[in-house]
Amino acid sequence: MANNVLVIAEQRDGVLKKAAFEMLGVASELAAALGGTAQAALLGHGLTGLPETLAQYGATTVYVADDEGLDRYSAEGYTDTLADLVGKAEPAIVLVGATAMGKDLGPRLAARLGVGLASDCTALEIEDGRLLATRPIFAGKALAKVKLNADPQMATVRPNVLAAPEPDAGATATVEPVAALTDNVRATVVDIVGAGEGEIDVAEAEIIVSGGRGVGGPEGFAPVSSLAKTLGAAVGASRAAVDAGWIEHSHQVGQTGKTVTPNLYVACGISGAIQHLAGMKTSKVIVAVNKDPEAPIFNVANYGIVGDLFEVVPLLEKELQALLAE
Ligand SMILES: Cc1cc2nc3c(=O)[nH]c(=O)nc-3n(C[C@H](O)[C@H](O)[C@H](O)COP(=O)(O)OP(=O)(O)OC[C@H]3O[C@@H](n4cnc5c(N)ncnc54)[C@H](O)[C@@H]3O)c2cc1C
Repeated sequence: MANNVLVIAEQRDGVLKKAAFEMLGVASELAAALGGTAQAALLGHGLTGLPETLAQYGATTVYVADDEGLDRYSAEGYTDTLADLVGKAEPAIVLVGATAMGKDLGPRLAARLGVGLASDCTALEIEDGRLLATRPIFAGKALAKVKLNADPQMATVRPNVLAAPEPDAGATATVEPVAALTDNVRATVVDIVGAGEGEIDVAEAEIIVSGGRGVGGPEGFAPVSSLAKTLGAAVGASRAAVDAGWIEHSHQVGQTGKTVTPNLYVACGISGAIQHLAGMKTSKVIVAVNKDPEAPIFNVANYGIVGDLFEVVPLLEKELQALLAE
């Protein structure tokens, strides 16, 4: 077994996901502690230029399976191809992003390899030559430190938590073509319908402005959406707002919605139930607007504004517009 750390680099339509760069940063640190190197696996079709980008973020070897059959994510095609590659490359650690794709692929690949998996990790380090992974449990109330006994040690990594390294424009990698195994594909993705035009997905956003039951109805999302537009942010929502039919489920943040880690999370009219916090507690800066000073959201907020969101949010937007115009 080699001491290398393999990152499964996710791309969609020829664009690499930021999670790949973040994982390469930590992969380089882990590999250095093990005496190995960071590597990347890249699957898809028409991947020109992407291995070079991965090299700039720290991959010394990029394994590339470029095949029409891998153009869109397929559970079987990706698992078969990666299981074969991992068997041959024998990395010590395999990292997968805890993205929609990674949450499907990671456990499948681990099961295929017959190894354990630490899922949705927020920190990774080496202790006594083994991976020590930190993962939030009980809706973020506690942090578990996990060690895996089998090899390779596998983890999925929560996006937007670890910092991506500065790219090194001069860095190069060995590019190794690998076989795409697509004979066993029984289900194919025929279409991907994106969020509404111009909408930013909460799972990928750097800034999120969310509305809860406090917005009072679908039209109550107007000031929330307007502030989001000013900030170039995604619109999020609590389950109460989604269940009431005021906004689509794709916007829901929380235990049964999406897990997000934006740089800024603005919660408007959201009480801060544990199931909501589970999805956004690791946001870097949290701002809460709520008319109840006792609302639990203020316990996790860096900045809290007690007031009616229909007064506060437009005022906030006006001030931010003035600041942004400077
Ligand atoms: C298994 C399970 C899974 C769940 N998954 C999720 C999940 O993924 N995501 C999620 O969000 N919830 C989830 N929930 C639901 C969760 O328990 C809460 O019910 C929900 O988060 C409450 O949403 P809310 O904060 O918008 O509503 P409420 O708790 O009703 O809070 C509304 C808040 O708005 C404030 N408010 C009212 N009017 C105004 C105003 N004009 N200006 C300012 N503030 C105002 C109120 O003071 C109050 O704090 C789950 C629950 C279960 C049991």
